[in-house]
Amino acid sequence: MSKPIVAIVGRPNVGKSTFFNKLVGRRVSIVEDSPGVTRDRIVAEAEWCGHYFFLIDTGGIEPDSEEIIPAQMRAQAELAMEMADVIVFLVDGRAGVTSADADVAEILRRKRKPVILVANKVDSPKLPDNFYDLYELGLGDPFAVSSVNQLGLGDVLDEIVESFPKGLEAESDEDSIKIAIIGKPNVGKSSMVNAFVGEERVIVSDIAGTTRDSIDTPFEKDGQKFILIDTAGIRRRSRVTDDIERFSVIRAIAAIERCDVALLVIDAVEGLSEQDKKIAGMAHEAGKGAIVVVNKWDLVEKETNTMRDTERRIKGELQFMSYAPVMFSSAVKGQRLLPLLDMAKTVAEQRAMRISTGRLNSLIQDAMMMKNPPSDKGRKLKIYYVAQIGVKPPLFSFQVNDRKLMHFSYSRYLENRIREVYGFMGSPISFVFREKGERGDL
Ligand code: GDP
Ligand code: GDP
Repeated sequence: MSKPIVAIVGRPNVGKSTFFNKLVGRRVSIVEDSPGVTRDRIVAEAEWCGHYFFLIDTGGIEPDSEEIIPAQMRAQAELAMEMADVIVFLVDGRAGVTSADADVAEILRRKRKPVILVANKVDSPKLPDNFYDLYELGLGDPFAVSSVNQLGLGDVLDEIVESFPKGLEAESDEDSIKIAIIGKPNVGKSSMVNAFVGEERVIVSDIAGTTRDSIDTPFEKDGQKFILIDTAGIRRRSRVTDDIERFSVIRAIAAIERCDVALLVIDAVEGLSEQDKKIAGMAHEAGKGAIVVVNKWDLVEKETNTMRDTERRIKGELQFMSYAPVMFSSAVKGQRLLPLLDMAKTVAEQRAMRISTGRLNSLIQDAMMMKNPPSDKGRKLKIYYVAQIGVKPPLFSFQVNDRKLMHFSYSRYLENRIREVYGFMGSPISFVFREKGERGDL
């Protein structure tokens, strides 16, 4: 149905983020200023021998500290268990088995999901003396690797790919629109999933350790297939209250990475919070479609212009995302939910739209006639040629005489012109500017 998810768990400093970066192969930073997120990146797509999967570094949500409390480690393992199809349990091959390792292993052994035990920092061919102690963890044969020297990683990747649940990759989800429902706890995400799916599909339990098998819910409406990527639930499961906020962030990041369209749900009574803005920023940075959903609209006292005023206020606070439509809903009353699905479909289509080079160039030529391009010391910006070089999200390449002459305000103007004609509703669009003679690809 979708790409498998592989989660990395382990104590701080065993090398999780190094291992993650080697497997992903490139570093692209998306989450710098998210609360509690200490890494460049905690979710990324990876590929091995034609198999694609998502890799999550669950350690990325913890502050870099040696004194991580065992409860946090356990919560991290639970999270991995819930979200992932395969778990990579990383330990420090030189340090031997610690009690925290044993604790985590106990949780990992409980479930039926495949766990791959990896001893990192084995930098030379000779295995450390205590290597065989790792068998005590009861997780099968350990792999010895050196993330820094890139030794043994291929064997681990082979094992990861081997362990994928059968059938997961084979089914294509190309024709489904993947919707992530994101937002703070308590804004109504689970209620919304239930309302969409029409039954109590999101099993919420107060019993610690209860997990759902899947966080993806497929359903169909008027012939269109959707997959809901749900981020609700963890709050009730985690016993460690401090982790709630951080876990809701990692779940949101993972969901955003995998979706086509993010429904950013906010509470109509509470309004937009700082965390909402950060989550919106992540969806924007990731190039995903976005719809702001003001839920619990039934609780708001309405006058003639309440809706319009609320929309204006939100657009004002989310200026970087002015392309995102603002919708209103009441999940518990089942009101105004169908328009959300219609809008999600529209946004997904707009994000996949491609404009022909001919039309694009005449649009840009017209725009330059209407508003003169900027100049500096007598030198004027020239745009020779424009082409859309990407979709999902739309990406446009401009061939110019001098990139420095392209001011932000002018590129904003060009974006607005493109949007006036073609919409691209709900989707970020981005531009690259190249000077003559630069390579054509990215
Ligand atoms: P994390 O906290 O588990 O994500 O660990 P990091 O990836 O931040 O690594 C912690 C430290 O271990 C860093 O100084 C890394 O350079 C080092 N490290 C990671 N992998 C290896 C390895 O394979 N060999 C050695 N010698 N050091 C490593
Ligand atoms: P989540 O944590 O975001 O998944 O939120 P829930 O779906 O669990 O909802 C949190 C609380 O808000 C529950 O008590 C819901 O009944 C209530 N709730 C959710 N949506 C609405 C709504 O549209 N209107 C009202 N009045 N309450 C709602």
